[in-house]
Amino acid sequence: MYHPFAWLTSIARVIAFMTCCALLGLYINYLAFTLLFGTVGLLSLHYWRLYRLNYWLWHSKKISPPTSRGIWSHVYQGIYGANLRNRNKRKTLGEIIKRFRQGSEALPDAALIINDCAEITWCNRLARIELGLQWPEDLGQKVYDCIDNEEFTTFYHSNRYERPIEIVSPINSNKVLEFRLVPYEDVQFMVLIRDVTRLTQIEKMRKDFVANVSHELKTPLTVINGYLEMIPENGDMSEPMMKKAISEMRSQSMRMQSLVEELLVLSRIEASTERVFEKIINVPQLLWQIQAESEALNRNRLHKIFFDISPDLYVYGIESELRSAFSNMIFNAIHYTPNKGVIEVRWSLQAGQAVFVVKDNGDGIAAEHIGRLTERFYRVDKARSRTTGGSGLGLSIVKHVLSHHNSHLVIRSTVGKGSAFSCRFSAELTCLMDQKTRNNYSL
Ligand code: ADP
Repeated sequence: MYHPFAWLTSIARVIAFMTCCALLGLYINYLAFTLLFGTVGLLSLHYWRLYRLNYWLWHSKKISPPTSRGIWSHVYQGIYGANLRNRNKRKTLGEIIKRFRQGSEALPDAALIINDCAEITWCNRLARIELGLQWPEDLGQKVYDCIDNEEFTTFYHSNRYERPIEIVSPINSNKVLEFRLVPYEDVQFMVLIRDVTRLTQIEKMRKDFVANVSHELKTPLTVINGYLEMIPENGDMSEPMMKKAISEMRSQSMRMQSLVEELLVLSRIEASTERVFEKIINVPQLLWQIQAESEALNRNRLHKIFFDISPDLYVYGIESELRSAFSNMIFNAIHYTPNKGVIEVRWSLQAGQAVFVVKDNGDGIAAEHIGRLTERFYRVDKARSRTTGGSGLGLSIVKHVLSHHNSHLVIRSTVGKGSAFSCRFSAELTCLMDQKTRNNYSL
C-alpha cells in the first residue's frame, strides 16, 4: 500500500538519528567523530538494503520481497506490486493469445500471416497440412518460396487482391485451393486458403452434364430431322421408304423419351425427401414382378436366368426407387451378356443384412472402367450401349438409390468371365417377416 508520508517519516528519522549523534558528540566532546560515525552507519545500512534489493531482483527466485523496515519496505512493496500487476497482465495476454490460437485452429480455412517483406510470421495447423509447411523451420521464410507456384507468386506481386485465385495444391495435384489475400495494417497480409476441389468438381460435373444431355438429345433429333427433310412437302414418298422413316423416327423418339424419363427419375431421387425408415417393402414380390418382366425381355436373348429369392426378407425403403435400382441391374445383365448366357439373381440374408446380387457370365468389364460406371452417361462401349437403348444413366440411378438407402453398389468383374453387381442393406433396414406377420402385412 502507498504511504504518502513515508518519505517525511524517513527524513524525520534521519534527522532524529543525526541529532542524537550530535548530542552524544557534544557530550563526549567528539562531535565531528560521532557525526562521521553516524553518517557512515546510515550509509552502510542503506547500502546493505540496496545490496539485498539488487540480490532479490537479479538472483532470488522468491516472488515476495525480503522483509525490511521504513522507506525500504515501501520500495520493496512498490516493486512487488508492479511485478504482480505485470504478471496478471501477462497472464491475461497469454489467455487472449491462447484463445486466438484456439480460434484460428478451429477455422475451417488454412490461414497465414505475412509481413511487408513477404515473410511468414504465423500460420495455423490447417495451413501446415494444406501447404506442407514445416513449423517452425518455415517461420520467417518468403511466402512464395514456401508456396512454390508461379501463379501465386504473380498474384502476390500483382497488388490486386480483390478477387481470390484458384490454383492446384502445391503438395497434392488432385486438390484445388482458393487463395485470398487480405491486406491489413497497410503492411501485413492474411492469406486465407480454402479447399475448393469439390466445388470445382461440381462445376465441372454441371458443365459436363449439360454438354452430355445436349449431345444425347442431339443425335436422335438429327436423325428425325434428316428423315423429315427427306419427306417431300406433298408426302409423296415410296411406301418402303416411308415405313423405314417412320420406324426410325419412332425408335429415336422413344430413345429421347426414355432418356428424359431416366433424367426425371434421377432428379426425383436426388430431390427426394421421402424417408427410408418409414415403409417396409415387400422386396420378394417386387423381384417376382421384375422376374416376369425380364422373362419378356429375355425372349430373344435366350439367357438362363435364375432367381433365388428369400420370400421372408423385406427391407425398409422406397419401393419405386428400389424397383428402379434392381431392375436396372437385372436388365443390364440381360443387355450386356451375350446370347445364351447365365444370369443369377440372389436376394438373401447374410450376417443379419439383406444382400442383393446380380451375377452374369458375360464379357466382363475392364478394371479401368469399373470406378466410372456410376457416372452419368458413362458407357464402356458407347456404340454397343446405344444399340441396347442404353443412356448411361442406369447405374447412376442405382448409385443414388442405394446411397439414399445408406448402402452402396459393389461391382466385381473379370474380363471374359463375367460381372457381379451387389449391394448390402444395413441390419437396421433389414427385416425378416415370418408367415403370420407376412399374411397380416399383405392384408
Ligand atoms: P446404360 O443405360 O448404357 O446401360 P448403365 O449406367 O446402366 O448405362 O451402365 C453403364 C455401362 O456399364 C454400360 O454402358 C455397360 O457398358 C456397362 N455395364 C453395365 N452392366 C453391365 C454388365 N452386367 N456386364 C457388362 N457391362 C455392363
